[in-house]
Amino acid sequence: MQIIFLGTGGSIPTPQRGLSAIAVKRKTELLLFDCGEGTQRQMIQARVGFHRKAKIFVTHMHGDHVLGLPGLLQTMSLLDRRKKLEIYGPQGIKAFVEAINLTVRFSLTFPVEVSEVESGLVCEEKEYTVYAAKSDHINNSLSYALEEKPRPGRFNTQKAKKLGVPAGPLWSKLQGGSSVTLPNGTKVEPERVLGPPRPGRKIVYSGDTGQSENLVKLAENADLLIHEATFDDELKERAAEDGHSTPGVAAETAKKAGVKKLVLTHISARYKDANLLLEQARKVFVNTDVAQDFMRLELPLQED
Ligand SMILES: [Zn+2]
Ligand SMILES: [Zn+2]
Repeated sequence: MQIIFLGTGGSIPTPQRGLSAIAVKRKTELLLFDCGEGTQRQMIQARVGFHRKAKIFVTHMHGDHVLGLPGLLQTMSLLDRRKKLEIYGPQGIKAFVEAINLTVRFSLTFPVEVSEVESGLVCEEKEYTVYAAKSDHINNSLSYALEEKPRPGRFNTQKAKKLGVPAGPLWSKLQGGSSVTLPNGTKVEPERVLGPPRPGRKIVYSGDTGQSENLVKLAENADLLIHEATFDDELKERAAEDGHSTPGVAAETAKKAGVKKLVLTHISARYKDANLLLEQARKVFVNTDVAQDFMRLELPLQED
């Protein structure tokens, strides 16, 4: 699983930072969190591709998080995308996509499925779920958690042989967590040949938010928390008024939630050098980085 920060600026783009968009490449699928203006060009530069199985999760209906959708849909159509695109977001996302479709006459070459969501379960796949929680920013603004389900434990070939399971398709079935029946009629349950289940990975993205207890809960024990830090700690009051965070707020959330790593994003154009933000966060939570456009993070699977 690879996380690519496509846009890391807050509100307006700068020469160094595009607007909010975070790509998560998971196996053959692309999960895109927010789609600020210019996301498609960032995707080209980062070689993310437009034909993958894809889902887009929009945190809220502010322009810097959603205005990239029209251009992205247009380009995907020009490139003759065929696979369905799923878009999830708060109330308003449906009308927005419909309006683009009605007023800008690009003919979509692929189905677009838009779902308006609230806090709670957003979507469930065989290997992962996405949850949302209300963030402290505007009406219906959301934070998202991508959580992989535990994988079956390691397959013990010695045990399988001892139980008389012949190598081949029966091994794969057991490995996948299903029981099998041997040619002699004996049933073998997967627990007898598999180690303990191995944990999946969890990534949480705050979207725009002030200090939020919902987010602390959502981010519990995450491997990675991507948190906005629009302003520095000196502007804490201004941040709170606008429903935004400072490095200190983000770091406190990371600490309370017991996450492994924190990455700050949505950096205001006023900070040419983000080191100030980094230092402020690290005073509270050491394992912190500040995102830059095109920064990549590899999140390996935990083995046992
Ligand atoms: Zn924003
Ligand atoms: Zn916003």
